[in-house]
Amino acid sequence: MKIMIFPSYATYFHRFVLYRTNIAISQASKTSVAINAARLFYFLRMTLGRINKLETFGSVDGPGIRFVVFTQGCPMRCKFCHNPETWDFGTKSPNGADNGSFEISAEDLLKKAVRYKPYWGSDGGITVSGGEPLAQIDFMIEFFEAAKAAGVHTCIDTSGVTFRRTGETFAKIERLMKATDLLLVDIKHIDCDAHKELTGHGNENIIEFFRYLDEIQKPIWIRHVLVPGGSDNDEALTRTRDFIRTLGNVKRVEVLPYHAFALSKYQELGIAYALKDTQTPTADRVKNANEILETAKYTEWESSRK
Ligand code: SF4
Repeated sequence: MKIMIFPSYATYFHRFVLYRTNIAISQASKTSVAINAARLFYFLRMTLGRINKLETFGSVDGPGIRFVVFTQGCPMRCKFCHNPETWDFGTKSPNGADNGSFEISAEDLLKKAVRYKPYWGSDGGITVSGGEPLAQIDFMIEFFEAAKAAGVHTCIDTSGVTFRRTGETFAKIERLMKATDLLLVDIKHIDCDAHKELTGHGNENIIEFFRYLDEIQKPIWIRHVLVPGGSDNDEALTRTRDFIRTLGNVKRVEVLPYHAFALSKYQELGIAYALKDTQTPTADRVKNANEILETAKYTEWESSRK
């Protein structure tokens, strides 16, 4: 399975066209060869992110008002996913239609985001969600390092499935974490087999990612989608709570009741909706999950700001 995105030949061709356009402009304006060479270097080096959509006033993906970036591409296939249009790493939806994604440099994306900085107050900032943001880690590093240099609070909403503790991948994760203030990470199911049934992947890398984030004491919010017949059973909730208790970096725990809000998107995209017979959990089951997961205990998120 390919989960890292590298610039394609088409991307390099696109950059070359951009560069030639720049040369034409600079010849017309008598810009020096050195400046053109610098531009060539920049165009070949920069990493473009593939983005599905932007949300300028997000209020649920991290503290305060946030500029939310939804990256394109995710290796997981969660049955309850609200954003199936972000699954494919390319430009097409499963029904063959254009998925509306676009490429952008970190610099240009940050320029778009900071226009909204006056609305962020002391809590807000930028959240990158998805799709799976860590599948575009080179772009994420460029984007968040630039955001931190501009004094912006940075947050990643990730499944953690691409985490590896080895080699270049780990080096990149470590670098990205230095520019990341907060992470929103789901425990989709504590049991590895049940996790695979619910998402298409085991949870080994995800559990390892939680342990790593605890080791470096990176603030996290944990979210748990409560799916009747899936994650909503007391044994799994108790095991989830016991795992959360082993972590010392948890600032908030949230129970998100399953809803079929995205059903029409699946129908439009021609994707079979696996949870079509699943109901939203009752208020009693949501209360039960909040009690078992001790969500009221985790109220420190305000202090997670750097
Ligand atoms: S990890 Fe997130 S974006 Fe990917 S399939 Fe699951 S819910 Fe959807």
